[in-house]
Amino acid sequence: MTLGTGQQIKLTVCGSGVLRVYAAAATDESVPFLSRCRACGHPRLQVGYSRERLVRKLVAGVQIDAYCLACDCIWPITARERAWVARGLAGLRSACGR
Ligand SMILES: [Zn+2]
Repeated sequence: MTLGTGQQIKLTVCGSGVLRVYAAAATDESVPFLSRCRACGHPRLQVGYSRERLVRKLVAGVQIDAYCLACDCIWPITARERAWVARGLAGLRSACGR
């Protein structure tokens, strides 16, 4: 794992290769993750959550909403997607050495 000014974070996230790709672009302000739209069935990239916000929601067990621009539809992400997000965040944390 490397973490420099280029924010090159490489994660090994099981079950979601796409999340791993986008995790390379993650910052404290925005941790992108994918959730499948309930209306159109396409995986949609969610960029509106900071790491802090995601961690708080995961810890509190609060529902995390995702949004599809094409359908203008909002839905709560699934338990599996939450697990992916949690794994991604754990990877980020260890990459930052915190
Ligand atoms: Zn959609």
